[in-house]
Amino acid sequence: QQLDGMLASRMKHSFHLHEKAKEVIPGGVTANIKYFAPHPIIMQKGKGSHLVDVDGNEYIDYLLCYGALILGHGHPKVIEAVIQQMANDGTTVFGTPHELEMVMAQKIIHAFPSVEMVRYTNSGLEATLLAIRLAQAFTGKTAIAKFEGHYHGGYDQVLISVNPSIAEAGDEKEPKAVPESKGIPAQYTDETIILPFNNIEATETILRKQKHRLAAVILEPVQGGFIPADATFMKQLRAITKELGIVLIFDEVKTGFRIIYGGAQTVYGIDPDLTALGKVLGGGFPIGAVGGKKEMMEQMDPRRGKDALSIETEKANKTDTLFHSGTYNGHPTILAAGLATLDVLQQEGTMTKLLQMTSMLREGLENVYHAYGIPMKTVGLGSSFNIVLTEQEVKNYRDLAKANIKLREKIDYELLSLGVYAKPGNRYSVSVAHTQEDIARTIEAHEKAIRQVTN
Ligand code: PLP
Repeated sequence: QQLDGMLASRMKHSFHLHEKAKEVIPGGVTANIKYFAPHPIIMQKGKGSHLVDVDGNEYIDYLLCYGALILGHGHPKVIEAVIQQMANDGTTVFGTPHELEMVMAQKIIHAFPSVEMVRYTNSGLEATLLAIRLAQAFTGKTAIAKFEGHYHGGYDQVLISVNPSIAEAGDEKEPKAVPESKGIPAQYTDETIILPFNNIEATETILRKQKHRLAAVILEPVQGGFIPADATFMKQLRAITKELGIVLIFDEVKTGFRIIYGGAQTVYGIDPDLTALGKVLGGGFPIGAVGGKKEMMEQMDPRRGKDALSIETEKANKTDTLFHSGTYNGHPTILAAGLATLDVLQQEGTMTKLLQMTSMLREGLENVYHAYGIPMKTVGLGSSFNIVLTEQEVKNYRDLAKANIKLREKIDYELLSLGVYAKPGNRYSVSVAHTQEDIARTIEAHEKAIRQVTN
């Protein structure tokens, strides 16, 4: 409720718009995560590393559309690519195959050595859903295993134990499957096995016990985009899944092209069977992609075992072919934006500078919190990190739950009034557009916020 007192006078227009929006949109938000109390801030303009709200307040943006905007808002190369695509092609969308689909697939394959073929979707959610279906079809099994605290999109099979209450979550070494939403059929809490992240002994025990029914293990190699897997954990997980014939799916929707040019698998040197991508790949537009080994991806080949020229192909192939569809899959405008984004990231020095800026911010923040005697560490990899108010090691969901979440939230609300936008509690993503001045102002704002809340 703090926003009420502190910011109400600066946010009149935001408040009124949200009041109106609530009448026609549940909670006034188009995704549950976009809400925070007492009302979300309604934005009107983006420019580079900054957001401006409908009341004219300006913020340094570290939400960056949940990490998607690695070049910041409205990068000229992206805007130009989008306009050019529509002007040159004379359409917004073909609804047929077109060249950019192949060009982007080649780029992904080049950046992700484990990927041999690619299909596009319209979101990260659809990408992990497709990856799971590919694994189920490939193995003939139906259950999957996911890690506690990992997010893969908001659908039945994986919307389980993402943010469970510790009281409900059971033993740390054998977490319970806790649904995150009303309306998830009970079968999914039976068919989704929960694993403890960064605990290879407990993970191995569960996988060996459940191997007969497991199609896949899906994980965020960097949990929440900021808690990295231990290198040995990752290596052993790959070895065990291979031995047990379980498909290993890397969900790199957050990490892909953000922690490095490539993904977490590039950093760890791990060869997953399937990879889900999204966010950065779309240059600020909705996209997802699944990449993986030919033998798995070719399950979607509509020619499988049939005469490719037969108009009956679609009907006849149902049992041989894995069905994958989407009106807007491989949308040319989005691929143009994504390709322009990857081009900028590949320019010499771009990624290095981005990582340096991120380190500078992390270091500056740690110094400030420690100067005020607040137990704190920044936890992250590449250009994303989170501020965790603890002295303990942070390796998984249970460690996070022990941090001082209340103090973090108080500071986050202060930061909003000081012009730093990281949705309360959210991780920080840095963009190519962030400047040294932004970093210095952010560190200064944290210091002011700490003073306010600890006084
Ligand atoms: N997987 C991960 C790791 C994500 O972070 C997200 C979104 O935050 C998704 C999947 C779902 O992606 P989308 O929101 O594009 O559906």
